[in-house]
Amino acid sequence: MGDLQGKVAVVTGGSRGIGRGIALTLAGRGATVVVNYQRNAEAAQAVVAQITGAGGTAEAVGADVSTEEGANALIGGAVKAHGRIDILVNNAGITRDNVIMMMKADDFDAVIQTNLRSAWLCSKAAVRSMMRKRSGRVINITSVSGVMGQAGQTNYSASKAGLIGLTKSLAREVGGRGITVNAVAPGFVDTDLTSTLTEEQRATSHQFIPLGRWGTIEEVAETVAFLASDSAGYITGHVLSVDGGLGM
Ligand code: NAP
Repeated sequence: MGDLQGKVAVVTGGSRGIGRGIALTLAGRGATVVVNYQRNAEAAQAVVAQITGAGGTAEAVGADVSTEEGANALIGGAVKAHGRIDILVNNAGITRDNVIMMMKADDFDAVIQTNLRSAWLCSKAAVRSMMRKRSGRVINITSVSGVMGQAGQTNYSASKAGLIGLTKSLAREVGGRGITVNAVAPGFVDTDLTSTLTEEQRATSHQFIPLGRWGTIEEVAETVAFLASDSAGYITGHVLSVDGGLGM
């Protein structure tokens, strides 16, 4: 029996990278996990197979959470299937990096819609159900880039800073209903998202990280699991950095 036994969790972008790690960790602690993906059904099914193979419960649900229809279908479907959502992890995210002079307005819009609008849409839909239960956990995956800013990421940093504002405002709105809203701000983590960085860029990044290395998916996932747990019941509106000290 894990500490999340009986809880229902939705992880957006749970098919790969950090979202996959979060889905596996929450399931390992006993939660029933809805593993959302946009395109990569095979990867999402593999996460579900890994969870069920270990004795857990999970299902894969395809939905583009940057759209109102997709977000409502994902959250509405989960509530219908399980009667509740206890934990929402807004993790789905993309990058479309470039210096501002070269960045297209479409690249700005796509990143804001996928990283920020999706979290607003899914939170809006999930909080409705959480309010009825007078309990719930919303955990937004922001980034050190949203805290510090990053050259070449005006779109991404804006989306992640926006997530921090969303986190704090929603925490104030729904605190009285027993719902906590927090953000986790990872630094560099090895996933498909960061796979375009060269070995040289990786080595350079280590110089700016007090702990001298990148973080692991598991380190981020364990932090999310803590915020989802009863142990974190009095924490809300907080941005928890998992960045080896990079952003301080
Ligand atoms: P990743 O490996 O590229 O995975 C992205 C995930 O998001 C995939 O599961 C993808 O689904 C899903 N996704 C993308 N657009 C979607 C949409 N419109 N609707 C539903 N799902 C969508 O990325 P990652 O590195 O794990 O990043 C996960 C989160 O952590 C992101 O919010 C990212 O900004 C944040 N983060 C990452 C790092 C890092 O160093 N990696 C650092 C700080 C913050 P498909 O498989 O279907 O494409």
